[in-house]
Amino acid sequence: MFKKILIANRGEIACRVAATARRMGIKTVAVYSDADAQAKHVQLCDEAVHIGGNAPQDSYLRWERILQAAQDTGAQAVHPGYGFLSENEDFASACAQAGLVFIGPSPASIRAMGLKAQSKRLMEAAGVPLVPGYHGTAQDADVLQSEADRIGYPVLIKASAGGGGKGMRVVEDAASFAQALASCQREAIHSFGDDAVLIEKYVQRPRHIEIQIFGDTHGHCVYLFERDCSVQRRHQKVLEEAPAPGLSPALRERMGAAAVAAAKAVNYVGAGTVEFIVSQTDYDQPESMTFFFMEMNTRLQVEHPVTEAITGLDLVEWQLRVANGEPLPCQQADLRIQGHAIEARICAENPDHQFLPATGHLQVYRKPVCQSFEVGAVRMDDGVREGDTISPFYDSMLAKLIVHGETRAQALAKLDEALAQTHIVGVSNNVQFLRHVVASPSFAQARLDTALIQREEKALFHQEPVGFPLAAACVVAHMLAQEQRLQNDDPWSRRDGWRAFGVATRTFDLAFHDQQHTANLTYAHDGALHLQVEQIAGELRWQQQADTLRIEWAGHRVSAQVFVQDNGEAHVFTPQGATRVKWVDALAHAGEVQEAGGRLSAPMPGKVVSFLVNTGDKVKAGQALAVMEAMKMEHTIAAPVDGEVIELLYAPGDQVAEGAELLKLKP
Ligand code: ADP
Repeated sequence: MFKKILIANRGEIACRVAATARRMGIKTVAVYSDADAQAKHVQLCDEAVHIGGNAPQDSYLRWERILQAAQDTGAQAVHPGYGFLSENEDFASACAQAGLVFIGPSPASIRAMGLKAQSKRLMEAAGVPLVPGYHGTAQDADVLQSEADRIGYPVLIKASAGGGGKGMRVVEDAASFAQALASCQREAIHSFGDDAVLIEKYVQRPRHIEIQIFGDTHGHCVYLFERDCSVQRRHQKVLEEAPAPGLSPALRERMGAAAVAAAKAVNYVGAGTVEFIVSQTDYDQPESMTFFFMEMNTRLQVEHPVTEAITGLDLVEWQLRVANGEPLPCQQADLRIQGHAIEARICAENPDHQFLPATGHLQVYRKPVCQSFEVGAVRMDDGVREGDTISPFYDSMLAKLIVHGETRAQALAKLDEALAQTHIVGVSNNVQFLRHVVASPSFAQARLDTALIQREEKALFHQEPVGFPLAAACVVAHMLAQEQRLQNDDPWSRRDGWRAFGVATRTFDLAFHDQQHTANLTYAHDGALHLQVEQIAGELRWQQQADTLRIEWAGHRVSAQVFVQDNGEAHVFTPQGATRVKWVDALAHAGEVQEAGGRLSAPMPGKVVSFLVNTGDKVKAGQALAVMEAMKMEHTIAAPVDGEVIELLYAPGDQVAEGAELLKLKP
């Protein structure tokens, strides 16, 4: 086996490869750009080499520099991960010329499958079913138009060199063809430097089902079953699962055989994926499924962990063994499907704004109890840590959450629970959106096709699973818990006595979706807290256990985690969902302590900075009386009513407890 490999990638996949290498006793070399100097993948590898600037073409795509790094560090092989150089035949050739093993297929296999149109011609010859279409070399607009007319509308125009859904155009009728063609060609030239296109019949209610295959250098090839990746947005995968719901064993076997035939047609070695589009006349009629070859990806896929979950295998280990010249660890007859697995891609993006990618500082990043980079009931593979900055230079995927259960229903329940326990603050993300997709009737009932997200749109976007009043109660309870913690550290604490003589009220100004609201908290004689938010009122009880608050209020019982950002944005996570409440000015109303007898109490534990009035002064309602410092901020205490200052009860510099009486005011 190799002693040392270089991982020519970043993020979660670089970490993933490093984890298996470590387990197998293989040393790893990371490469990194300026922005990634402190990245997780750099930390996880044994050595790391800086390869340039932030833009991929200045670092992760600079293959001469990467090969140099491999030679300088004595690596014997290069793992390309996915994306970047993974499907670059020139890089694969250059590795061989430099005496390094490229952990992937031969340059010839990459080339054969690289262009969609050419690979379709090859597949046709190998007897693999194709979507009716045109994938010829003649590219005149007239020829293309007449081919589209022949195929019959709707058709799909694809960039032959395409990937990632770029350039694809659905055309509904002959009249709109020319314009769609021109726009596809423009995008194709821009993205891939090649404007050749192919045309396919647009499959109605299509499912994306792909087969994982593996070949070795001894002429063996097996398939590791399928993954259903039908849940997509903008032709990109959102959820992936295995096995594909409703796929019959007979059809699985036929698709597996077709995928193996496709791989053998190009002498495939290593991990590869043959993607099929599957048409079905009805969700409830799996026997109506028909499959057609779409393309082959000549690398490890993002979604490979669902296959690992149902087979119990480590595909990176297989890649390393095959690259080392070993035969496949097992034969087709040894492979079995165990249970059901689903993967969710957690991305830094804003689903409610056309999935716009997001950047930022990952202030809070809490994961469910999970495994990483190895099979488990709940597995989270990621390339980021709490505190990291998400830069605009690379992919928006933060993590992959993979669950495995005995049945699909079990896997669904685990996925929902694990997503609920994934708490991210500081970077917009799709965690809540994913929960809505998982809960949608279409997904729950496995009525899968690539239009699922569109169809369920109403239930997926702009959702508020936690209403404002309950969110406000969580934020208030969180603040009280914080104050109590500070106070418990405070030797001056006089918490017990202060309320004995009256009822005090505090007002919290909160904003929810740019709407201003108030929450009123009343301290009763007996120490009970009464909270009113909008029309809802009730006694507020809470208990803190580690980071979690257990809250009871107005008939609600909820456990919540609340994180407040420096800008006052409070992120509330509950099992029902997450939401945000802006704490407008936490203490603007700090002085509005209205008590019988006209006394003024400290709203929270802190230090008296100064008094702005003297004994005997006449003051107006709203006039500033004192300044306190608490939670690293200064707060002004204002007179609740017109009156006369009778007595100052503390001196500047004094430490006071929450509720401590600061001065006596005669209304
Ligand atoms: P890319 O390489 O750009 O990702 P693919 O050819 O893999 O493009 O197709 C991406 C997605 O587009 C598929 O997963 C499927 O949802 C949809 N798609 C592709 N071909 C067809 C087709 N003929 N009919 C309907 N949908 C299709």
